[in-house]
Amino acid sequence: MQTLLLKADNPADVETAARILRGGGLVGMPTETVYGLAANALDAEAVAKIFVAKGRPQDNPLIVHISQWEQIFPLVRRVPESAKKLAGAYWPGPMTMVLEKSGRIPDVTSAGLPTVGIRFPSHPAARALISAAGVPVAAPSANISGFPSTTTAEHVMRDMGGKIDAVLDGGPCGVGVESTIVTLASDPPRLLRPGGVTLEQLRAVLGRVDVDGAVMNPLPKGARPLSPGMKYKHYSPKANVIILNGSERAYLDYVNAHREPGVAALCYRGEEKALRVPAVCYGAETDCREQARELFEALRRLDDIGAKTVYARCPEPRGVGLAVYNRLMRAAGFEVVSVG
Ligand code: AMP
Ligand code: MG
Repeated sequence: MQTLLLKADNPADVETAARILRGGGLVGMPTETVYGLAANALDAEAVAKIFVAKGRPQDNPLIVHISQWEQIFPLVRRVPESAKKLAGAYWPGPMTMVLEKSGRIPDVTSAGLPTVGIRFPSHPAARALISAAGVPVAAPSANISGFPSTTTAEHVMRDMGGKIDAVLDGGPCGVGVESTIVTLASDPPRLLRPGGVTLEQLRAVLGRVDVDGAVMNPLPKGARPLSPGMKYKHYSPKANVIILNGSERAYLDYVNAHREPGVAALCYRGEEKALRVPAVCYGAETDCREQARELFEALRRLDDIGAKTVYARCPEPRGVGLAVYNRLMRAAGFEVVSVG
């Protein structure tokens, strides 16, 4: 299959992408979080193709994207007050709400769960594409399952070229990590995945929000997580990532003492000057939003330069730092070394 490269700033290209979706095809879609691999959420056959293209396990549900608030009503059994409040505060934006699904959502989309994740993205190209398609759009991240998510059209082409109908190029993603997922199907609400809308922001609207154990910790063997995606090795480059926990000085000393072929650093901007191994920076130490935006690109670059072992800096799990921490910990398979 030849994958068309379309431009989000060209209305005729957006219409072409919409036609592909209506016809049951797959489109790489820019959003403010990461690129999504989009299909008509109500078309079971089209959705099944997403799982094949990504190599995604069948039990990992997809998020359904809408382009207007009213589109939520036929998709869920009920819209609770809490959902209205959250939507009022953070939609359109990088937040997914899990609610009890209606009969309109095919089982393949929700991976057999009685619930469905709904998101109203803010990216103008995503909104234009979903509106033009005229259907809600199921879209997981547009990467090969298990690898870092894609934040540019070029990354999507590299992972998905030849396997999907088109990629709509809307430029690099602004948030850079996947959406915050909060389930309103449990009481109290529970954070399943941290993202660009922070836990603190959710609590400001909802009051109590619990944090699912899978956000901070590896899953015990055989456990069934609330968010099935948490079960899998995730966001991983080919290199073995190890997080070094400690001061900047201790980090730099440790990495320079472990200078060997294949060793590389994933560091904050400016630290590369003091490192004697190949280094990829992912933002300033004090700016977690910048770290989130650059993390996946940085992980991909480490593979491009042939890194085998990557020593990484990791932020404190607060604010958007919680999302960066969660992705990096999974990329590292929770391997952390204390360096003082
Ligand atoms: P991705 O689109 O690649 O970011 O993956 C979607 C994530 O959303 C996965 O981690 C899923 O487990 C999670 N998810 C989607 N729908 C639900 C749901 N109904 N309940 C819990 N988690 C969900
Ligand atoms: Mg994903």
